[in-house]
Amino acid sequence: MSLHDLIGHEALRSSLVRAHQSGTLPAALLLHGPRGVGKQRLALWIAQLTVCAEPIDDGPCEACGPCRMTRSLEHPDVHWYFPLPRPKAASKEKLAAALEAARFQELAELRETSLVPSWSDDVRGLYLGTIKNLRTSAAKRPTMAEGPVFIVGQSELLVPQEASPEAANALLKLLEEPPGQARFILTSSEPGMLLPTIRSRTVPVHVPALPRQTVKDFLAQHLEPDEKTRNWAAHLSQGSPGRAMAFLPDDGEPGPLEALRRRAFEIVTSATASSPAAGYRLAASFPPARARQLIDLFTFVEEWLRDLAAAAAGADDLVINYDALGRLKKHAGSAGIVPSKVPEAFPAVERARELARGNVNPQLVVSGLVRDLRGALLDSPPLTGTDR
Ligand SMILES: [Zn+2]
Repeated sequence: MSLHDLIGHEALRSSLVRAHQSGTLPAALLLHGPRGVGKQRLALWIAQLTVCAEPIDDGPCEACGPCRMTRSLEHPDVHWYFPLPRPKAASKEKLAAALEAARFQELAELRETSLVPSWSDDVRGLYLGTIKNLRTSAAKRPTMAEGPVFIVGQSELLVPQEASPEAANALLKLLEEPPGQARFILTSSEPGMLLPTIRSRTVPVHVPALPRQTVKDFLAQHLEPDEKTRNWAAHLSQGSPGRAMAFLPDDGEPGPLEALRRRAFEIVTSATASSPAAGYRLAASFPPARARQLIDLFTFVEEWLRDLAAAAAGADDLVINYDALGRLKKHAGSAGIVPSKVPEAFPAVERARELARGNVNPQLVVSGLVRDLRGALLDSPPLTGTDR
C-alpha cells in the first residue's frame, strides 16, 4: 500500500514547486498550522518532490522509482521521525534502539492503513534517543538521492517530557551544520513551544485549514460511508482532515476527539452548575497521572467556552459545536452566563494547560480549573482550598 494522496493546499504546493525549480527551496522548513491539517503528509510530499527523478509543474511525477518508494514509505533517503510512546523497560543505553524499533513498527502499520493518524490515546514524545537515531542517519551518505530528507513531525514535543532541552539541542546542532545536501522539514501545530533557536534556523511555512468540502471529500474517499456522519465530522474538524478522522466513531465507540469533546463539555457545564459538587466530583474521576493527555482536552474546553458565550449572546452561527446549540443555550440560561465575562475564563484554561505540561496530577489540575471557571463565570466568589 502507499500513503493516501495529498489533498488541498494547491497554492502552497505551487509556490513550493516554483521554489524547488529555481533552487531556492530552503534546506530547513518549519510547516506550522492547525493540528491534523496534514502537515506531515505535506512534508512527505515535499520530500517526494526533492527526490523525484522528473518533477512536473504540479509537483512530483508520481511515476518514477523514487516517487513510488516515498509514497510507500520505503525510500532509503527519506527519513520520517514522529513522537512515540516511551518504550517500556528499555535501559538508557538501549532506549535509542527501542525507539527505532518502535518507529519501524509504526511505519509498517502506516503502510497497511495508508492514512496518517493524527490523534492517539497514549502520551508521546520526541526523545533524545530519536534525535540520536536521526543524527546517525544524517552522518551516512545518501543511498539514491542527492541529499537525505529528515521529517520531524510534531516537533514541539522535543522538549517537555524530559524536562531538559537535550533532544532539542541535539537537533539544533544538526540544523546549524547540516551534513552535505541534507534537508530538514519540521512540523508543528504549536510553533511557539519550539526553542527560539530552532525556530530561527528554519523557514516558517504556514499550512492553512482546508475548506469544509475538501475535508468531506477526503472522508468520503477514505473512511466514512454515511453522509450525515461525514458532514458532522467535517463541520467539527475546522478544516483539518486529521481532526475529522478522529471524530468518527470506531467500532460503535466515539472517536478519540469526540470522547474528549464530550468530556470538555462536562467540565464546562459542571464547573458552572449551581452546586459546586458536580465539578469536583468530575475532577476526582480523572486518573491521577498522565497530565499531558489533558492538553487536547483543554483546547475543547476553550471551544465550549467560546460557544457558551456565542449561544448566550444569540450569535448561533458562531457556535462551532452546532449539534449542542440547544443544550448550550439552556445551560447558559440556567447558569446565568454573561457573554462579556467569558474572556475572563481563558487565563484559567491557560494556567491549567501549563500545569498539565508540567505533569501535575490531573485531578488537581482539573479541580483547579473548575474552581477558576466558577470564579470567572459565576457571581459567587471562588472556593478556597478549605471549602472543599
Ligand atoms: Zn517522480
